[in-house]
Amino acid sequence: MSTKSKKEEATLCVDCLFATVHPGLSYLPDEDFYFGVPVCSACGGLGFVYDNPEFKRMVKEVNVSCSEYFPNDNLDFPTHPVVQLKALKELVEKITKLNREFGIKHCPSFAKMIANGYLNTHIQNTKILIEEIMASLEQKKSSETIDLCLSAKEKALHGDLEEAHGMFKRCVEKHPDNSVVASDYANFLVAFKRDFNAAAIWFVRATEGKPKKIKHFMNAVVILKVLGRDFEARNLLMQSLACPDADSVLDLKEVLKNLPTNGSIN
Ligand SMILES: [Zn+2]
Repeated sequence: MSTKSKKEEATLCVDCLFATVHPGLSYLPDEDFYFGVPVCSACGGLGFVYDNPEFKRMVKEVNVSCSEYFPNDNLDFPTHPVVQLKALKELVEKITKLNREFGIKHCPSFAKMIANGYLNTHIQNTKILIEEIMASLEQKKSSETIDLCLSAKEKALHGDLEEAHGMFKRCVEKHPDNSVVASDYANFLVAFKRDFNAAAIWFVRATEGKPKKIKHFMNAVVILKVLGRDFEARNLLMQSLACPDADSVLDLKEVLKNLPTNGSIN
C-alpha cells in the first residue's frame, strides 16, 4: 500500500481528537494522576485511524504493551521495574513499526514522538533503578537468606520470570516453615506475576511460619484489604500484636484500639 492511498484512507481519531491538543495522546478526565504511557488506545498514538485489519492488529499490540506497563486493574500496585522495562521496550518497538507503516509524513503525533526517542530517558532511568535493586540484592548475600531464593530473585531481575517462578516454587517446597521464603515468593507473585490471590496465600503462610515478623503480617493485611477480604485482614491485625517485633510499628496498638469491633477495617 502506498503512502498516498494510506492518506486517502486515514480518518481523524475521534477518541483523541477533542481530548487533547496533541494527536495520539489519550486524555483521562477522571484521573488526577496517570502513571502509564498515555497512548490513545484507538489509534496507537497516530492521531488518525484506518479501516484496515493490519492497522487494528498493530494498535491492539500497542495496547497490550501499555497495559503490561501500567495494568488497569485497580489493584493500586505498580508492576515491578523489570516488567515495566520489558513493556516499555516492546511499546517503543511496536509504535515505531506502526508509525513507519501507517504514520503520515509531516503530521505530528505522540506515536512519532515515541518513535523519535521520547521514552529513552524513562527507559534509561528504569534500567538504573533495576541495577540499584540488583546491587541491594548483592549486599543481602551475606545475611540469613537462602541461596535458592536469592538465585530466584536474581533470575527475576534478569527478566527470566518463568524460570524464577519454578525456583521459587521449589524453594517454598523445600522450606515450608520459613516465613522469609514464603514472603519473598509472595512478593514475586505480586510484583512480577500480578497474581494477588496466589500472593495472599503465601503472605498469610509467612505469618504462620518462622521467624515471626510484623512486616509479614502487615504485607498480608495489605494484600487481603486489596482483595476485599477485610474480615481476614482484621483477624491478622489482631494476631500481629503477638509478634516479637510488633513494637517496631509505632502506631499499631493505636490502630487496633480504634478499630470497630465488627465490620470493615477501613
Ligand atoms: Zn486516538
